Amino acid sequence: MSSGTQNENCFYPNRWMRILLISTEEIIGKNGVNSLLNLAGLPEYIGNYPPDNMKKEFPFDQVGKLQQAYWDMYGPRGARAFATRAGKKTLNDGVEHFGQIAKAARAAMKIGSFERRVSLGLQFFAKFFNQVSDQHVSVEEDDTAWYWNIHVCPMCTGRTSDSPVCYLAVGVLQGALENFADADKRYNVTPTHCIAKGDEVGVIVIEKNPM
Ligand SMILES: [Zn+2]
Repeated sequence: MSSGTQNENCFYPNRWMRILLISTEEIIGKNGVNSLLNLAGLPEYIGNYPPDNMKKEFPFDQVGKLQQAYWDMYGPRGARAFATRAGKKTLNDGVEHFGQIAKAARAAMKIGSFERRVSLGLQFFAKFFNQVSDQHVSVEEDDTAWYWNIHVCPMCTGRTSDSPVCYLAVGVLQGALENFADADKRYNVTPTHCIAKGDEVGVIVIEKNPM
């Protein structure tokens, strides 16, 4: 069934997937995660999460399978909500591990207008993704929005869909905005393009006007 981009030899750091699985556990419980891993065809991770290090060893096709399992288990609507929540929680739980980059992002984001600070923060964040994982992202902006472009996407790996599936990234971005920019503002963060639905680049739009 799976087609889409395969992204062989692309990996996420172990720690990211470890944090994602632990965050997921806090939402749906240990048994829920076990079912999810079984459904994803990844039973080897049951009770055996990836180690707590930044080695790039968790293959993108497994990230895709895990995401697909959310969809199979909860249906599109439930999976979107769940992936968003898990992404946000992963960012919040992982934020202490971001270390230097978080410090640099926070420092940069203390200077200038709010909009300028978010722009800088997103640039830092993109650079961080590109450095420590094989996900490749870039950031653009115009007067109304920031655009988080995903050129190589773990979430889409091996998947095809009629609508965007990269809600884990939506949650991560929402979490990042709250952590690094302003905890009181909420932004519309919407995936408009997605490699799984045939677009060349995945695009997540962050509207500049808070909700
Ligand atoms: Zn996507």
